Amino acid sequence: MRKINKLLVANRGEIALRVMRTAREMGIKTVAVYSEADRNALHVRYADEAVCIGPAASSESYLRGDKIIDVCKKLGVDAIHPGYGFLSENAKFSQMVKDAGLIFVGPSAESIEIMGDKLSAKRAAAKYNIPMVPGTPDAVTDRAEAKVIAGQIGYPVLIKASAGGGGKGMRIVENEVEFDEQMERAVSEAISAFGDGAVFVEKYVASPRHIEIQVLGDQHGNTIYLFERECSVQRRHQKVVEEAPSSCLTPEIREAMGKCAVDVARSCGYYGAGTVEFIVDDKLNFYFLEMNTRLQVEHPVTEMITGVDLVRQMIYIAEGQELQLKQEELEINGHAMEIRVYAEDPTNNFLPDVGNLKTYVRPQGNGVRVDDGFEQGMDIPIYYDPMIAKLITHAATRQESIDKMVRAIDEYEISGVQTTLAFCRFVMLHEAFTSGNFDTHFVKHYFTPEVLKKEADKDETEIAAALVAYLMGQAKQPTSATTMASVATKSKWKANRVK
Ligand code: ADP
Ligand code: ADP
Ligand code: MG
Repeated sequence: MRKINKLLVANRGEIALRVMRTAREMGIKTVAVYSEADRNALHVRYADEAVCIGPAASSESYLRGDKIIDVCKKLGVDAIHPGYGFLSENAKFSQMVKDAGLIFVGPSAESIEIMGDKLSAKRAAAKYNIPMVPGTPDAVTDRAEAKVIAGQIGYPVLIKASAGGGGKGMRIVENEVEFDEQMERAVSEAISAFGDGAVFVEKYVASPRHIEIQVLGDQHGNTIYLFERECSVQRRHQKVVEEAPSSCLTPEIREAMGKCAVDVARSCGYYGAGTVEFIVDDKLNFYFLEMNTRLQVEHPVTEMITGVDLVRQMIYIAEGQELQLKQEELEINGHAMEIRVYAEDPTNNFLPDVGNLKTYVRPQGNGVRVDDGFEQGMDIPIYYDPMIAKLITHAATRQESIDKMVRAIDEYEISGVQTTLAFCRFVMLHEAFTSGNFDTHFVKHYFTPEVLKKEADKDETEIAAALVAYLMGQAKQPTSATTMASVATKSKWKANRVK
């Protein structure tokens, strides 16, 4: 047991703030590190102390583990929380932190090492009876050999980078003719993104859903699962909408997946918060994909339905405390949704659209949580992930949570940059999503930029019609009153001006 009195957060943006808030609630002093591009960032202002560690490029700032550890020594810091991305899954960094006599708020370097590589993760998990997607147990380098294996597995197959992450280094191969070309691409992508060209071949699961289990393990051998998150709405294998619980699991499958996830954690002696990712086919067979050895972007949906502050638990575990949460006492309470609000233009192939946040007004009210790192007037820097915020809603049922999300999206006011809000609104209202009958191909199947353009045109027509009706004194009629109400939330300033 070693109490943490001062915590450095080796990250930026919403996740740095989110971690510091819990630290403050626990009476722990906080230290921010920042790059020259983030001088005015909220995490810098929020922290008790803040130190600039280098230029904008993350390789010269947020990825400089050595500089970050120096700051800890100078300021008498006890522990480092790495957030997600950056150094969070870097086994060497975790070890360096430990060697410097500091606490790493996360798992051991050994666990990160094992789970950081998808193949070694599968090897570790194979010790327990964990279902896996059929595929090669080892990296393949020889193209001819790989092609024979792909033929045995049966097309379509997926070529994946062993060191992959963030949806990169993955290639679908529909048939043998495409194999050579796709393999070449996968290897070169893996080398450029991860500095490691090792790839393997896996059966491509048709109509899959991405369902992952949140786990918590302490340093005394206790491991529990905090149910699932469904993240099937993806773009380029990257999550955009997440929810808990999943709309398709039965209590029995939930329990079976939970137990599997706990076994995967045990297979690498895991402690801290972690996520075990599974792919689930249309018959609800589930297969282990990988384990993320850190706090995940979508962790708030789990916090909402369980009432557990995951960062608080991570800190207790890092201090060496025993888990007080008991598996049998955990319950799912209601339904939570999360959308990632990116500064990207959904009508232009989701190209990043960074710039100044001229207007920035957050939605509020019962069951609405916004985790962000910006305020009105701030610039979104081009150097990092263009995520502006995570918008989370929590309500009694899935449909109420969706309704709340639509209401919150309509209240969110952002100008100066294009955002993915309208795209997320489209998802929330789509029949395939509301019915729960969707898979990871949702965006590919249903979304085209035209649907947003059509929506925008429809809104303008509705507003114009409502205005005319109002001005002509017909607004008291029930039909136009309804239209006015919907126009008022969609564009409250326009509606106010009419009054
Ligand atoms: P999550 O896994 O938490 O649901 P993402 O897959 O979007 O969410 O990853 C979280 C962040 O970490 C993103 O900023 C992503 O770019 C980054 N990331 C994930 N894996 C890697 C990796 N292996 N290398 C570099 N960055 C990564
Ligand atoms: P990353 O490290 O990039 O997160 P994952 O293995 O977690 O890689 O896969 C990311 C996404 O790619 C999954 O959520 C899923 O949509 C898709 N995917 C991965 N493996 C398969 C597979 N065998 N079949 C079909 N889709 C897959
Ligand atoms: Mg993954």
